Amino acid sequence: MICIPITSGTNKEALRAIEKSCRLADFIELRMDLIGRGNLAQLISAARDRSASIKIIVTCRKKEEAARAGKARRVKNAVGNSIDRKIALLKEAIELGADFIDIELAEGQAVIKTLKSFCAKHGGQTGIIVSYHNLKETPELDKLEEIFNQCAKAKPAIVKIVTMAQKVEDNMKTMGLISYARKRSQKIISLCMGDKGVISRAVAPSMGNYLSFAALDLKEQSAPGQFTVGEMRQINALLQRQRTAPLEQVLCPSGDSPQNYVLLGNPVRQSLSPLMHNEALKKMGIEGSYNAFCVDDPGEALQSMRAMNIRGASVTIPFKVAVMKYLDDIDADALEIGAVNTIINNHGRLRGCNTDWLGLILTLKKAMTVENKTFVIVGAGGTARAAAYGIMKEGGLPVIANRTVEKGKVLADKLNCPFYSLSEIGKIKADCLINTTSVGMYPHQDKSPVKIRALAGYPYVMDVIYNPLKTKLLADAEKQGCKILSGLDMFVNQGAEQLRLWTGKEPPRALMKKVILARLIQSEP
Ligand code: NAP
Repeated sequence: MICIPITSGTNKEALRAIEKSCRLADFIELRMDLIGRGNLAQLISAARDRSASIKIIVTCRKKEEAARAGKARRVKNAVGNSIDRKIALLKEAIELGADFIDIELAEGQAVIKTLKSFCAKHGGQTGIIVSYHNLKETPELDKLEEIFNQCAKAKPAIVKIVTMAQKVEDNMKTMGLISYARKRSQKIISLCMGDKGVISRAVAPSMGNYLSFAALDLKEQSAPGQFTVGEMRQINALLQRQRTAPLEQVLCPSGDSPQNYVLLGNPVRQSLSPLMHNEALKKMGIEGSYNAFCVDDPGEALQSMRAMNIRGASVTIPFKVAVMKYLDDIDADALEIGAVNTIINNHGRLRGCNTDWLGLILTLKKAMTVENKTFVIVGAGGTARAAAYGIMKEGGLPVIANRTVEKGKVLADKLNCPFYSLSEIGKIKADCLINTTSVGMYPHQDKSPVKIRALAGYPYVMDVIYNPLKTKLLADAEKQGCKILSGLDMFVNQGAEQLRLWTGKEPPRALMKKVILARLIQSEP
């Protein structure tokens, strides 16, 4: 549900904004601290005339908050700093039949109680929102839980907690609070402000936030980072998370609660995993979503994952090794490879796994026999280790070729296999060459880690890169008569294996490949 705050500087402008907003939103919030000489009775009645179903929240914030929200020019209109005037205004809102009034936790439990009993005396039609705003930072999750408990003390209709995101991980804290509130059957609005908080605004609706705030247009933003109503609708449509069930069903689900998954990496903007996993979840009939998070601190991200009851995570560059020390348990494959690309959350216990090796092996085995065949692995990083592990497990023989000789030799020694420098690749006799470096990946499609003439004689060449679909390495290999395997199947298979670990169900691999293929073809120049 979308709520448009009405922040116009005059009563006349506010009436115009109400006229437009009632067509676009489920809720409007009358920001009486910002509407100059606002006539509450007139504003409420205009909204009711425009839409019988619109819900109305009446709010009167303190001056400082209006100023921080970028409304400094109007602050002279603010009435919010006199508690007596504020109480009088909120009581008037109750008498006029507003659906909700918003009172800050900072005003104290006595004020909250007074307003609550005033509501009850007037038929209890108006719900109380107890709100907490931190305009500087986002406290730690345990502190936020304490604040939530204070807000929830008077059993309000809704608890609202809004904090300033100083770093991207702060989003996970406010979203962690949504799970915390839902477990306690308390309706909540929890989100972060600021540029680094936009993720929470986009993702929170799918996590069960009671409503999303969106501005009528950019001029009317009531808080930094707020989307416009058009943007919010687009995001909701993209996430395909428009709720059809009433909130009560979400708060007290009769069946399973939503199963949400995340991608943790930095950067993640280009990742196609959300597209692939969300399509798969939908097809599998699983209520839940998969969202990408660009994180700075993997430890904090995993802590939030536990708190939010996120069922599983994919881990990508640069955290495949760094996450390991924060996990409760790591499976034998991932331990041997020395990297985790999948996390399973089993009631707060996080288990690390690796599906990259399986993704690669399933792809290879579809095209050729692995047993007793020789594979030149170009690279000595995490993917090279996963490739070598899978190949050896299937009875194949790896050979390492890497740019940095020392690093390549360390890996080759560990695997007890030969090492060659990149310039020697043409001399090696092998059945398949696999590129596990990022050379040739979009936007550097004109690069290849191996010279074209060195590819002659390799029956198969595989690239773990899937964007572009045909890398320069693969195009060169084709010219040399090699059979080629793109990284697309590996990507689909490693993702499908993640879904199998998370859900115990067989994922729709063909569909997953189809959506990624379509997206890659669409974005080809
Ligand atoms: P990584 O641990 O950082 O290792 C990268 C390797 O690439 C290192 O051995 C590095 O060599 C080599 N390298 C980097 N730049 C190079 C250059 N200009 N010339 C020659 N060698 C170079 O990375 P990773 O996690 O293994 O990931 C590697 C690639 O695999 C990424 O593109 C990733 O997207 C892809 N991947 C794809 C899938 C899939 O499902 N298709 C799954 C996992 C990963 P030095 O030792 O000399 O630095």
